[in-house]
Amino acid sequence: MRNLAINPERLWDELMETAAIGGTAKGGICRLTLTDLDRQVRDWFKARCEGLGLTVTVDDMGTMFARREGQRSDLPPIALGSHLDTQPTGGKFDGVLGTLGALEAVRTLVEAGYETYAPIEVVNWTNEEGSRFSPAMTASGVFSGAFTRDWAASRTDTEGVTLDAALDAIGYKGEERCGAHPLTAFFELHIEQGPLLEAEGKEIGVVTGVQGIRWYDVTITGQDAHTGATPMHMRKNALVGAARLIERIDAIAHAHAPLAVATVGMIQVKPNSRNVVPGEVVLSVDARHPEDAVLDSMERALVASLSEICDPLGLTVRMDKFWEKPPVRFDAECIASVRAAVAACGYSARDIVSGAGHDAANVAGVCPSTMIFVPCRDGISHNEAEHSSKEQCAAGAQVLLQAVLDYDRRLAERGA
Ligand SMILES: [Zn+2]
Repeated sequence: MRNLAINPERLWDELMETAAIGGTAKGGICRLTLTDLDRQVRDWFKARCEGLGLTVTVDDMGTMFARREGQRSDLPPIALGSHLDTQPTGGKFDGVLGTLGALEAVRTLVEAGYETYAPIEVVNWTNEEGSRFSPAMTASGVFSGAFTRDWAASRTDTEGVTLDAALDAIGYKGEERCGAHPLTAFFELHIEQGPLLEAEGKEIGVVTGVQGIRWYDVTITGQDAHTGATPMHMRKNALVGAARLIERIDAIAHAHAPLAVATVGMIQVKPNSRNVVPGEVVLSVDARHPEDAVLDSMERALVASLSEICDPLGLTVRMDKFWEKPPVRFDAECIASVRAAVAACGYSARDIVSGAGHDAANVAGVCPSTMIFVPCRDGISHNEAEHSSKEQCAAGAQVLLQAVLDYDRRLAERGA
């Protein structure tokens, strides 16, 4: 089996070419989902795919599928791709590398005349970023049954425009019902968006899963009082309780090292006045880990800390868990194909758990899925300074191609 080689220059040129669609002065991209700029990049992508002889279809959430037939056109396709929308001050690589890397991989197959066993499809998911319409990963969420199409399509942006109307406005509301498009497997190439690969000098991250997230609100109640007239021993200062709790939450994450993270990112102090002892504080807690059991342990430690810290201060405290996303474990066979691809290419690699959410985490709920990471400079992402080198991008696309071919060969051997 000869190794098909993707073309690093061509991939890089296309990354730079599409980066001009919504390109910012600081070298990033502002290409919010379903805007006219998104339409332009979608039109570009569609034209490139059709130029390769692929058939492009669009579902009713605007997700694009560019199909190349295989020997067994009755099988659901092996899909590869990511997203072309960006944050308002996004970089040139988040999502785009995974989509254009997939395009480059399939173009390599087309040019080599390599016929796969299963059909292959390049996917561009709608509204991964969630910055114009919340929540993020909307289309893959509908695709995997996490939310209904009607609910997702009724989300509005800050101008009151619904996602459904935005799809119509750019002409990307397709006929096919979102989710009625079975896949044999899904592979997503992405920049790491964190610092680990670069710090360890590894070229590829073999992504084994996506960490779980739990969000809590903690409300600490004391008593508003005059700062001058209230002696220290008679105060019920909610902000002192909050300060001790913030330290404790940090310690809980450290106690579940190395993978646990926990953050207090928002704090509201009432009445927030210079000469009033704060009577109420609401703080947010964001806790993440790849294992549910560890998240449970962190949650128990957090619950125990509440009264331990607040009781001696005369404070009452309440905690609400208002959202959680369970950890995702990617498919063992898809991961095996990525490992085989890394070995075949001779790249250095390490296993990694994604710290960020991705479409593949949703898709993993309905078909075997996994991801491939490449390093990004200083781990910076969701930032116009986001950068991966031409070589790093090429390595990712090469592993993506090899992994898909490895998975396809396994299917053929099984005669699936
Ligand atoms: Zn992304």
